[in-house]
Amino acid sequence: LNNSTYDIVIIGGGFCGSMLAVHLLRRNPNLSVALVDKSPLPGRGVAYGTKHACHLLNVPSNGMSAFPDQPDHFLRWARVNYEPFAQPSDFLPRAVYGRYIASLLETAAKNSPNFHWIQGEVSSVTPEPSRIPPRIASQVNVQLADGTTLLAQTLVLAVGNFPPANIKVPGLSDRCARYASYPWSPAALKDIPQNGSVLLIGSGLTSVDVAIALHSDGFAGHIHMLSRRGLLPQPHGPKHAWPQFWNERSPRTIRGLLRLVRAELRAAADANYDWRSVVDALRPVTQQIWQSLPHDEQKRFLRHLRPYWEANRHRMASHIGEAISALFRDGKATLYAGRITQYRELSDCAEISFRERRTHTERVLRVDRVINCAGPETDYRRMDAPLIKSVLAQRLARPDALFLGLDVDANGALIDSNGEPSPSLYAIGPARKGLLWETTAVPELREQASQLAAHITRWLSSVSEEDNTEAATNTQPRRPSESLHMAME
Ligand SMILES: Cc1cc2nc3c(=O)[nH]c(=O)nc-3n(C[C@H](O)[C@H](O)[C@H](O)COP(=O)(O)OP(=O)(O)OC[C@H]3O[C@@H](n4cnc5c(N)ncnc54)[C@H](O)[C@@H]3O)c2cc1C
Repeated sequence: LNNSTYDIVIIGGGFCGSMLAVHLLRRNPNLSVALVDKSPLPGRGVAYGTKHACHLLNVPSNGMSAFPDQPDHFLRWARVNYEPFAQPSDFLPRAVYGRYIASLLETAAKNSPNFHWIQGEVSSVTPEPSRIPPRIASQVNVQLADGTTLLAQTLVLAVGNFPPANIKVPGLSDRCARYASYPWSPAALKDIPQNGSVLLIGSGLTSVDVAIALHSDGFAGHIHMLSRRGLLPQPHGPKHAWPQFWNERSPRTIRGLLRLVRAELRAAADANYDWRSVVDALRPVTQQIWQSLPHDEQKRFLRHLRPYWEANRHRMASHIGEAISALFRDGKATLYAGRITQYRELSDCAEISFRERRTHTERVLRVDRVINCAGPETDYRRMDAPLIKSVLAQRLARPDALFLGLDVDANGALIDSNGEPSPSLYAIGPARKGLLWETTAVPELREQASQLAAHITRWLSSVSEEDNTEAATNTQPRRPSESLHMAME
């Protein structure tokens, strides 16, 4: 594959990268597409690569179709390939969903001779003057860590979420033996005494995932969860659609929006509707609301409301909610609100001091393992990944103004350090958070994959039409496609 040229190289073969490839190949099976991922299996990414059967989707199966125009596609697939009696409201295992995405890619790839799944880590990308055809401004040289080079006319970053931000606490570093900085690493849960104790830093969905995994691995000790506000995600509940109440004339301040939502919550309670219906009514317009807010109001939201929004909007499957409640009820887990002030490793434990939010008193926990379950780092300036360093160093992209991701235009094109959108470099998924805020779950990401595929195929065909008329000569043949190597299971 070394030095092959592709119409499109996609970096990241999780949900976004895989579904982008599926849409591209469905539109034009002859496109040459390389999908590159560090891991051996397509479609999994962090979310669906879990080995724990107890890790369930946090969206019911009727909300998890990979195709925006076929809402029951996943449910139908699951009934054939997993559980014949699966119901629309069921929360199915995440590993099953990974198989679903891989199977869609496998089907699309079958009739696409120029599709390649490549396992490897992309370490840098460098635009270079094009050799084929001469009209295109530049091609992108894609370097893999193993020395392989690919050439791309169009490049898409589908790299998903990054590990949690480093926690800046005196005494704490990646070198501390009892500290796991990456909650998804298998080592994070290894060698913890069965009746020992664990501190999870953060109390969102990642902490819930880790607590559930510990429990299913037979851990019978105590789980401490500590976050600034001590808020746990809410479980899903009864679903009754509440009418959409936000419109373009609604307030453009956080205070005004909060007032609006509170009034709706009161009206919903009076009408015997669950509060979740009100939050869910905001979901289809969340991106519009975000974009209607001035920069300072977006900042205000991040400062004051973000944790409350996250806990109420990103919910856990009801079974998971029950399992977590049982841990607290049975005295096997404790939740704290506070700020860590110091970390120390003693000979037989880690000692964490924190200042409790409510009482302002200093408290100390001694545990066998501390796991960083804070949300993913979103500030690209702080990321260690060589690929990201390479993109920023060459000023091919810049962080968005709120450091939630990368600056992109409405199509997802990367905006460079001069403020120019790139014609050939794109980002999809969580990297678009600054522009969209809500770009986390399948219901938003499937739209992005479909729209970006349409945009790229249009762009590539307009470029090739121009080149056919202007530069019939001086083209260098592409390498013949090589056999398709895909590891689907
Ligand atoms: C634990 C967890 C559970 C979730 N559960 C749900 C759910 O139930 N329902 C829902 O709708 N959403 C859920 N989500 C949201 C989830 O983020 C999206 O559904 C989706 O998986 C994001 O897809 P992605 O392609 O952007 O990222 P990912 O799926 O994480 O894929 C990114 C891929 O990029 C690869 N990569 C990164 N850098 C490089 C590089 N330099 N070179 C090569 N490869 C690279 C990684 O190996 C990875 O495979 C969950 C998220 C998490 C973290």
